[in-house]
Amino acid sequence: MLIESLFCYGRVVEFFLSHIQSLHLPDLPTFRLPDFYRYFCATKVTNSMNEVREQWLLLISTPIYVVIIGLEILLSHLQQLKSYTLKDTVNNFYLMLLNGGLDLAFSVVYLAILNYFFSHTFFHWGNPVLYWVCLLLAEDFMYYWLHRFDHEVRFFWAIHVTHHSSDTFNFTVGFRSSVFQPLYRFFYFIPLAVVGFRPIDIAFIYSATQIWGIFVHTQLIKKMGWLEYFLVTPSHHRVHHGQNDQYIDRNMGMFLIIWDKLFGTFEPEGEKVVYGVTKPPTSNRPDEMIFHEFRNMLRDVRQAPDLYSKWMYVFGRPGWRHDAKWQAPNEPIGQTRLD
Ligand SMILES: [Zn+2]
Ligand SMILES: [Zn+2]
Repeated sequence: MLIESLFCYGRVVEFFLSHIQSLHLPDLPTFRLPDFYRYFCATKVTNSMNEVREQWLLLISTPIYVVIIGLEILLSHLQQLKSYTLKDTVNNFYLMLLNGGLDLAFSVVYLAILNYFFSHTFFHWGNPVLYWVCLLLAEDFMYYWLHRFDHEVRFFWAIHVTHHSSDTFNFTVGFRSSVFQPLYRFFYFIPLAVVGFRPIDIAFIYSATQIWGIFVHTQLIKKMGWLEYFLVTPSHHRVHHGQNDQYIDRNMGMFLIIWDKLFGTFEPEGEKVVYGVTKPPTSNRPDEMIFHEFRNMLRDVRQAPDLYSKWMYVFGRPGWRHDAKWQAPNEPIGQTRLD
């Protein structure tokens, strides 16, 4: 997200400065309510309208990222929270660049696939307000399941673990993405295209909710009052990054916490969170950070005594062991401690 922000923000600012008279985005400086309706609620969205929408999002979000990260560094230093280390921050941005590059390159493919399904839809949304509210709800619901399978299937956990392997917690961890997730994320959004949501709108809502997804990576905001009932808050997401037994594989939502409450994965913040994973990478080398869990998985597959065990080491729960004598029914999944 940030890499796209930086590219596009730089482009827009440069363009604005050098071509202020012939700016292709005449509505940017004087954005009015009718424009909002035109760009967000039109029944037909052209590519240029979509670009304006995306650029508005980037224009608004990028300075906010810069300000909140700067503020957080300052405040955590003053409060001696030690939530930033140089090495970890560099790693976070390095992983973000890899993820962002892959996402950008692959977006042509996944938008084409989503467009294929959208072109065969029989659904037509009349009311724009209903359309956007339903899209937000449906997409956040699908993201919940994407994230849940990322935690509950070892192959996907091997990809997603990069987001969790930092033992600190700050806004920049929000950019520490699962590098290969862009290659399969669209799969969860196919049902949305099938029921008549435009692929460019799906991509837009993903970007918009991801801004919130980044904002919740902080130790500075304790609780958010009544918002705690239905939104994913920093408190909820601190739990998600915890390796304490009761916090493992909890609070998977990106924007709304209601899915966790409905499907039994909700855990409120109680004892102090210990950030990170139970099997962290052994070094900060890029290949180790990205592939360490794949290596563990391959080692287990090689040592598995039969085909069933080999299958389970790839597609079973991350903590599954062929030689486990007994597994407690409430054993946390995802990073199950059997080692
Ligand atoms: Zn996660
Ligand atoms: Zn996170």
